Amino acid sequence: MPGLEDLYREIILDHYKNPRNRGTLEPPAVRSEGHNPLCGDEIEVFLIVNNDIVEDIKIAGQGCSISQSSASMMSAAVKGKPVEQARALISRFKHMMSIDEEGEPDTSTPLGDLEALQGVVKFPVRIKCAVLSWNTLSEALDIAAE
Ligand code: ZN
Repeated sequence: MPGLEDLYREIILDHYKNPRNRGTLEPPAVRSEGHNPLCGDEIEVFLIVNNDIVEDIKIAGQGCSISQSSASMMSAAVKGKPVEQARALISRFKHMMSIDEEGEPDTSTPLGDLEALQGVVKFPVRIKCAVLSWNTLSEALDIAAE
């Protein structure tokens, strides 16, 4: 029987090989980009927010399997969700990656496939790969709120 680590590896590979919400969006969608020079990862997030709902999100960029699968999972997790819930998920994910954030995470939003990335925390150099798309999303949400 495959163990949990095998299952997690499969989920990560599935998102890497079949990335969700891949592409770009034209303005008025907002755009933000993030780089992880340590690994060479690049992420572009295109976002449409309407009535405080993440109406659409597209991801472009390239990089390692952790950065790209994390971006794919992130896009699937926040699409169609209220902005508040997306922000709660960013905070929760960063907690999971042991990045200090104020306060206790709001655990009401399920992590789903994102749990597959919790093993990354054992490899500090890869944490930046996993968190890159979340920081880029956070920036895009800030731009959309302006
Ligand atoms: Zn990377």
